[in-house]
Amino acid sequence: MKPTEHTLRSVADLHASGLIRAEQVAELEKVAARYAVALTPAVAGLIDPADANDPIARQFVPETAELETRPEERSDPIGDDAHSPVEGIVHRYPDRVLLKLVHVCAVYCRFCFRREMVGPGQKHALTPAALEQALAYIREHGEIWEVILTGGDPLVLSPRRLQGVMGQLAAIEHVKVLRLHTRVPVIDPERVTPALVRAITAFGKAAYVVLHVNHARELTMEARAACARLADAGLPLLSQSVLLKSVNDNAQALGDLMRALVECRIKPYYLHHGDLAPGTAHLRSSIGEGQALMRALRGDYSGLCQPTYVLDIPGGHGKSPIGPNYLEALGEARYLVEDFRGGRHGYPPAAG
Ligand code: SF4
Repeated sequence: MKPTEHTLRSVADLHASGLIRAEQVAELEKVAARYAVALTPAVAGLIDPADANDPIARQFVPETAELETRPEERSDPIGDDAHSPVEGIVHRYPDRVLLKLVHVCAVYCRFCFRREMVGPGQKHALTPAALEQALAYIREHGEIWEVILTGGDPLVLSPRRLQGVMGQLAAIEHVKVLRLHTRVPVIDPERVTPALVRAITAFGKAAYVVLHVNHARELTMEARAACARLADAGLPLLSQSVLLKSVNDNAQALGDLMRALVECRIKPYYLHHGDLAPGTAHLRSSIGEGQALMRALRGDYSGLCQPTYVLDIPGGHGKSPIGPNYLEALGEARYLVEDFRGGRHGYPPAAG
C-alpha cells in the first residue's frame, strides 16, 4: 500500500491508500455510515493489499458482510447497559467496575463488541460532571477493589488528563488495583511516551496494562519497544485476544501470537469468543473450533502461552471459561484425566 502519515478515517482514504478497489467504494460507504473506520499509519503499513486474506486487513478494513445483522446479534452484546448505575460505570461483578472514560479509539476494529457505542459519532469523553459522578460512585462503594479503565481506549487521552484521573482513583483508599485496557501500544506505539508511562505509574498504586492483540504480525519492532517501555517501568502486562476467523483461528497463528506476546513479557490472559456484535458473523468461529484450538495450544506450547478461553454471556451475565474439559468424574470421586496427547488416566479418590 501507499505509505500514510495520517490515520485513515474514510472509505475515500482507504481507496487513496490502495487498501480497497474503486468498485468497493459505494458499498463500503454504507458500512462506514454505520460503523466507524480508523486505521493508524502503523496498522495500515502492515497490510498487504495483494493478500485477499490479510489478517490485519480483516481486523480493520470494512467489509460489505458487516451490513448483514443476524437475529441473534445485539447492539449491546455483553449487556453493559443493564449494569450501568451512572454514566461511565459498569458494575457487573461485586469487587470491580469498568470506568469508560472515552468513547473513541485510535483504530476501529471490525468485530468490536461496543461498535454501536464507540466512534466519532459518539460523545468523545465523559464530561467533567459525569466523571465526577462516576468517581463519586466508586468512592461510595467500599466493595470496589479494582477499577478497569476501558471504553473506548483510555490511552488516547493526553498524559495530563490520564494522570489526573489516575491520581483521583489512586487516592481512593479501598481501590487497590487499577487496570487499563488498550490497543494503543501496539497500533500507535509512538503514543507511549515517558509522560504517558508516568501518568500510569506516578501514584504507586498497583496498575496493570491489558493489551489487545490478535495476530503476531501486530507486534512489530516499534510495538515491542512500546511494550518494553511499559514493562521496564514495572507495569505487569497481560493480553486479551479475540478468536477471529481467518485471523488467528488456526493452531499455528494462535500459537505464534501467544509466543510473540510472551516474548514481549505480556502474559496471555483472555482469548475471547467473538461477541454477538451486529454485522460480525463473518468473523466469528464456532465454540467447538475454539476448544479444539485450545487443546492444540495445551500440548505444543509453553504453559506461559495459555490464555483462558472465555465467553461473555449475552444479557450481561458476565464471562465464563469455555475451554475444553480434561477431567471426567467416574462415580464416587474417581476421575479420568486426559493428558495433552489425548491419553486418559485414572486418578484415585481423595483420601479420607
Ligand atoms: S480498540 Fe477495543 S473498544 Fe476500540 S474498536 Fe477496537 S475492540 Fe472496540
